[in-house]
Amino acid sequence: ETQAALDYVTNIFEVVKSRNPHEYEFHQAVEEIFDSLIPVFSKKPHYMKHGILERLVEPERMITFRVPWTDDKGNVQVNRGFRVQYNSAIGPYKGGIRFHPTVNASIIKFLGFEQILKNSLTGQPIGGGKGGADFDPKHKSDGEIMRFTQSFMTELCKYIGPDIDVPAGDIGVGAREIGYMFGQYKRIRGAYEAGVLTGKGIGYGGSLARTEATGYGTIYFVEEMLKDKGLSFKGSTVIVSGSGNVSIYAMEKAIQLGAKVVACSDSNGYIFDENGICLETVKQLKEVEEKRIAEYINIHPYAQYVEGCEGIWSIPCDIALPCATQNELNECAATILVANGVKAIGEGANMPSTLAAIDIFLKNNILFAPAKAANAGGVSVSSLEMAQNSARLSWPFEKVDKKLQVIMKNIYKNSVKAAEEYGYPGNLVLGANIAGFIRVADAMIVQGIV
Ligand code: GLU
Repeated sequence: ETQAALDYVTNIFEVVKSRNPHEYEFHQAVEEIFDSLIPVFSKKPHYMKHGILERLVEPERMITFRVPWTDDKGNVQVNRGFRVQYNSAIGPYKGGIRFHPTVNASIIKFLGFEQILKNSLTGQPIGGGKGGADFDPKHKSDGEIMRFTQSFMTELCKYIGPDIDVPAGDIGVGAREIGYMFGQYKRIRGAYEAGVLTGKGIGYGGSLARTEATGYGTIYFVEEMLKDKGLSFKGSTVIVSGSGNVSIYAMEKAIQLGAKVVACSDSNGYIFDENGICLETVKQLKEVEEKRIAEYINIHPYAQYVEGCEGIWSIPCDIALPCATQNELNECAATILVANGVKAIGEGANMPSTLAAIDIFLKNNILFAPAKAANAGGVSVSSLEMAQNSARLSWPFEKVDKKLQVIMKNIYKNSVKAAEEYGYPGNLVLGANIAGFIRVADAMIVQGIV
């Protein structure tokens, strides 16, 4: 049986590679998930008969579109926009929009593919999707951001809706961009469909605690994982890469739980503050002034700033939280972290560790919280935002936060259970992939060959 499962998975992986040539991030995400599913197909061969994997890897729809806009100098610029509507077995497509120069079909497909299983893990009724554009928001004026975002939505609005596809933010897309997108969508539709986007401002249909959700969720998940081993954030030394929305709120919750966060970064470099990072300064620099993290040392001269962001992993710590971007933590970084005695890794970003890095953590029995479980808090609260929009009401912060905690605990429990059931106790990579997969696969089977 195991041989049949192995052959099945290997064949489909070859198809994926030949049908999507040179899309390395996408291949990487597929490889990780496929490896996890071999025990499932050996134990439950009926999934193979239904062609679940063949269907799962092929997006239901992939939209690519031109995004023309005019910059402040009056020049016409063109970017490429994407939306992958990957899988709708358990709900409307759901997933963020990323504005970053590295965005291409491979990045969007890897993110969309991961999103299917992540969204399934949350237990909420949301399918998988993702979108973005190869637009660089850095050094753009507010007017340029608005015109670009409006142009993006002018095309995207043809394909989305509260019961069809519900985008949200991701790297480069925050509250401001969501606001501009919502305004443009509403203007074109001529209807107030609040549930078409999540991550909205509190005053016009957003959910309290959505801003904090991804970072808080990562900490809730990791705390649960630590607790199982008699450990906790209290008194631990933590490093967090990135200084965007996920990082900031991961730091905030870790500090609240008694951790000392000694480093964070941006795409230029990292800061190290032995006595613990001053989060207020990071928030002021990043959320208000839109400055580089390097400026931190002007305010806190005892801290150090180091160019380049890979060096952050050489700082000794108990817990490392990669919260910046894909493949930011490689084999070399993993080796150093292990040598320095790291106890746990929690992925706040999407696919921040390479496959080789994950291997090193697992072989060394380091507690490892994989992205699709550990960063599912953001999309979970997005789903709660959709629920509030449908009911036309707004829940208090504490209520949303409490629900988030329950969701993260359940994700942890279900991942642990699946890992055990399929013969890999403690392996949360497998557990999360399997638990996420089974819910989607079972829904696909009962809905027929579609
Ligand atoms: N972009 C986030 C993620 O990777 C959030 C998506 C959402 O809220 O729809 O899950």
